[in-house]
Amino acid sequence: MRKPFIAGNWKLHETVAEATALAEALRASLADVESIELGVAPTATALYAVSEALKGSNIQVSAQNMYWAASGAFTGEISPPMVKELATHVIIGHSERRAYFGETDETVNRKIKAAFAHNLTPIVCIGENLEQNKAGETVAFVSQQIHGAFADIPAEEARKLTLAYEPIWAIGTGLTATPQDANRIIREAIRETLVDLYDEETAEAIRVQYGGSVKPQNIADFIVMPEIDGALVGGASLKVDSFTAIVKNAVEALAQ
Ligand code: PEP
Repeated sequence: MRKPFIAGNWKLHETVAEATALAEALRASLADVESIELGVAPTATALYAVSEALKGSNIQVSAQNMYWAASGAFTGEISPPMVKELATHVIIGHSERRAYFGETDETVNRKIKAAFAHNLTPIVCIGENLEQNKAGETVAFVSQQIHGAFADIPAEEARKLTLAYEPIWAIGTGLTATPQDANRIIREAIRETLVDLYDEETAEAIRVQYGGSVKPQNIADFIVMPEIDGALVGGASLKVDSFTAIVKNAVEALAQ
């Protein structure tokens, strides 16, 4: 049984003071949530303050990215041991990092290995762009991303990882995949590929979030889909009210 996981990706928003206030408010508003795992991913500069603000709470802290080397001459990067001091999770391969910062399936794979080597749980983002979607290439493309991400990752590690299926055309645009389409892609492109790479048990153990313009108004439709195990939320995770409503609406929908 996969426990749903809803995480907020704060992207390049919030100063340390703002991030701390947001974390403290979410800690209070979400304190009674037990049926869904929760996480937030602040910027690197706010990781320390947010990890302090959320210590002992039911909200886990994630980095938005990291480099794979443990240390060295890599100006501007943060390393797995540095993230490990402040967070339990790390987002890897977000489409914005792939589009603007040269991330490839190979760097994603290296970062996943580095995360596991340092006991961090990766949230790995995959998803097709609009042209690929329109050309009917989604299943092939997402399957190829899975092959790249999971290269040489043993099954016992793969099972601990969370995938976020995020169609790029739905991120920050207000457009969403239909819950039925997202569910189908996760089945056909993600779980089927994981069955090929590993086995049925591993494919069924890996949590897959949906991401792309998730809001309080649409979360219930996604979370009840059998293949969708939560959400990675961007814009709507930056306001206490909207992230709280997303989580509460999901709790309610799952309880029905
Ligand atoms: C994201 O950044 O992962 C995301 C899904 O953003 P948004 O919810 O704003 O579309």
